[in-house]
Amino acid sequence: MDITKRPSKDEYYLSIAEEVASRSTCYRTRQGSLIVKDDQIISTWYVGAPRLTKDCFERGNCLRNILNVPAWERYELCRSVHAEQNAIINAARAWVNLFGATLYHYSCRLDSEWNVIKQSALPCFICKKMLINAWIKFYIWYDSTWIKHVYDVEKWAQDWQEKDMVDDEIKYWEIKK
Ligand SMILES: [Zn+2]
Ligand SMILES: [Zn+2]
Repeated sequence: MDITKRPSKDEYYLSIAEEVASRSTCYRTRQGSLIVKDDQIISTWYVGAPRLTKDCFERGNCLRNILNVPAWERYELCRSVHAEQNAIINAARAWVNLFGATLYHYSCRLDSEWNVIKQSALPCFICKKMLINAWIKFYIWYDSTWIKHVYDVEKWAQDWQEKDMVDDEIKYWEIKK
């Protein structure tokens, strides 16, 4: 084994985001966000219910499953706070400024037998709006074939000056893989 062979920075951050995602508390999804600024990890979190509330695992069910909510719809009926939102919120708790930071996002879904399957997942509109206002610069995610995608968050805002949210070139609910 060549011990001088190290993971790239991307691989390193992604593997930590994967570890963060393993703390998720939902039967449908497993997601982790890692926020990096000037090569320093400044915030992380996963999909999880608000503090002092019962999460999907503690209740033994997912509210969205009980209500038969299709994937990518009605996020207000999710007990959890999305990973991106939680990472932004945790930065505030730690008095950390996210200006110009990069968010690495790791996303998987769970099938009916609870197998973890790599998923392509773009941020939802709620997360996109929050990422714009948190002044995060880049959003990095990996699709189901592990291809890296880098999004310039400010570009989303510019797109919405000309067009509207629903005109997005790639719509998060259209990515089914
Ligand atoms: Zn759930
Ligand atoms: Zn979201």
